[in-house]
Amino acid sequence: MDMEHRRLGNSGLKVSVLSFGSWVTFGPQLDSGLAADCMAAAWDAGCNFFDNAEAYAGGESERLMGEAFRQNDWKRHEYVVSSKYYWGIHDTPNTKFTLNRKYLLDAIPASLERMGLEYLDLVYCHRADPDTPIEETVWAMNDAIDRGWALYWGTSEWNADEIRAAHEIAERHHLHKPVMEQPQYNMLTRRKVEKEYARLYDDIGLGLTTWSPLASGLLSGKYIDGIPEDSRAALQGYEWIKDMVSDEEANDKVRKLRDIAEELDATPAQLAIAWCAKNPNVSTVITGASKVDQVVENMRSIEVLSKLTDKTMERINDLF
Ligand code: NDP
Repeated sequence: MDMEHRRLGNSGLKVSVLSFGSWVTFGPQLDSGLAADCMAAAWDAGCNFFDNAEAYAGGESERLMGEAFRQNDWKRHEYVVSSKYYWGIHDTPNTKFTLNRKYLLDAIPASLERMGLEYLDLVYCHRADPDTPIEETVWAMNDAIDRGWALYWGTSEWNADEIRAAHEIAERHHLHKPVMEQPQYNMLTRRKVEKEYARLYDDIGLGLTTWSPLASGLLSGKYIDGIPEDSRAALQGYEWIKDMVSDEEANDKVRKLRDIAEELDATPAQLAIAWCAKNPNVSTVITGASKVDQVVENMRSIEVLSKLTDKTMERINDLF
């Protein structure tokens, strides 16, 4: 089945409904060869959007992704690539936990250098920063676009009021408006996407690039019988994920999800990813993987999308 492409909110940019991101994996789990192979597997399935962030593996993830673009020899007009800013990678007052003008206008070109690119398609404010006026951030993101470093900008895990405020400031000053938000969205985490942002889709044409469709792997069913040694939850430094995926109540639900998936001739991971894509307000579901096989399996979720009837959606709703 062919990959579907959706508009990123009310912008003209089209992104594949399934995309691929590098959090946790690029660096700690995947070296440059494997990272390029995973991206190629996604690409072969029709994926055109690759998500990254300055802070992933302290900048190494951007370097690996840039290398992978060259290794795979893709043309710049063929793919969409992002990065995100807030956490920072240098330990000084103006380079950490901030969205101030100095940081943003320094950090964005530094990403370009690490990736070896002339521009990014999407740049995000990776969290909200209560210490910087939203107006200062909006001007800085606008200026990054005006300088040719990026094409569109957006936010990640901002609340609805903050997104609306940024939009209104941009409108008032005729600046580039935020186009998309990147929230967590999966069967277990739904409130922001389904309730808090509900008005923003029509009011300002907000697009969504959602993250962690498998809740870090939990919804694949891999944690039903404990923590596999080669899994994310077994990695050092990710103990909070281990706690999250070990939750018994959640794993009971995943057992039942596995039964529904079986009826559809799908894996639980495919059902969980297709379920995210079923929401028409989602422009793209950013998937993650530590192995090429997982990428192949996950990209085939596109085949499950058409099998998600109202009845099946209702059963899943009842379950979660
Ligand atoms: P998922 O919730 O889908 O988790 C992906 C992980 O689950 C993989 O790395 C792999 O881990 C495991 N997995 C994937 N597919 C399968 C499968 N078919 N069967 C079994 N296990 C599987 O997504 P991520 O949490 O990785 O998030 C996706 C992307 O979203 C990130 O790469 C990033 O780009 C973005 N993101 C953005 C955030 C933000 O704040 N804006 C925050 C987090 C992510 P393993 O094999 O190691 O167990």
